[in-house]
Amino acid sequence: MSIRKFRRGETTYTCACCKKLTRNTGGDERGCGLCLDCYTLGGIANHLTDNGVESMLEFYGDEARGILTRRPELIPTEPGIARALGLVS
Ligand SMILES: [Zn+2]
Repeated sequence: MSIRKFRRGETTYTCACCKKLTRNTGGDERGCGLCLDCYTLGGIANHLTDNGVESMLEFYGDEARGILTRRPELIPTEPGIARALGLVS
């Protein structure tokens, strides 16, 4: 059983990026103070920087599009991804 389940009172926090009150899902995003969406987008943005648009679209295109479709308010925080997906010009 995970020790995370016993951290009472530490289950929600405000995302440092989008200011949304979020919950620890047990991933690494809590250490960054980010919600899972911002954390995931940040990783994808790093991939985009390191590997270029083609690779980002191949590996993370659907995931990135899913997040930015669900949470369009995050588009301005990751303009490179949004541009690669054709969500902004
Ligand atoms: Zn966030």
